[in-house]
Amino acid sequence: TEEMIRRSDKLSIAGELAAGVAHEIRNPLTSLRGFMQLLREKNTDYVDIMLGEIDRINDIVNEFIGMAKPQTMHFVVCDLRDLIEQVLVFMQPQATMFNVQMNLTLLSPRFSIECEPNQIKQVFMNVLKNAIEAMPNGGMVEITIYMKDQDTIATKIADQGVGIPADRMERIGEPFFSLKESGTGLGLMICHRIVEAHKGKIEIRSIVNVGTTMEVELPVNKG
Ligand code: ADP
Ligand code: MG
Repeated sequence: TEEMIRRSDKLSIAGELAAGVAHEIRNPLTSLRGFMQLLREKNTDYVDIMLGEIDRINDIVNEFIGMAKPQTMHFVVCDLRDLIEQVLVFMQPQATMFNVQMNLTLLSPRFSIECEPNQIKQVFMNVLKNAIEAMPNGGMVEITIYMKDQDTIATKIADQGVGIPADRMERIGEPFFSLKESGTGLGLMICHRIVEAHKGKIEIRSIVNVGTTMEVELPVNKG
């Protein structure tokens, strides 16, 4: 059945990734261990480095957990507008901290989708997090929900950030591929997997120093 296909798909993804995640977690742990040993011998200020490494472990585990946790997905009929509004409330503190404004425009006559709500929220959280991180000096994120065609509801998230160089575009979304100093490179990969499991897709358009537009397309619920 469809449920079983989705389940086995998720399990194999988790399996493929486990080795990579273990590797990524081991690096900061090794570093932490070294600094703790030094701390034991001398009384120096290695605490900042240790905190940084702990934060990194935290980021990796947090981003991975959304992928690994639900073994089966329970699809329910949801209002996409409600989910996105909840995500905007959740992301507001981070946006404010970085001087980023978020503006939602509703152009769709329909908002009903069949989904695993927490996973869809995670998709928009990851995409918005990237948009905010792309604008270190602040700016505007325009979120627009509209009907792409009669079967597809699309959400466009457009920032005014650093953009993605054309020669890197192909690798964006690969596990652990990040252009950020302390990125995990897991966010978009997880987004792609979740959206695929919902029979949707994500399109990325970007111009360096102009901005990036992520478009998340999902099938509208016909129920
Ligand atoms: P991370 O954010 O941890 O680096 P992601 O998988 O979320 O990992 O994103 C992968 C890479 O895609 C980022 O490192 C960044 O280079 C690029 N990227 C994603 N979204 C944007 C965006 N809105 N603007 C510019 N670059 C982006
Ligand atoms: Mg990210």
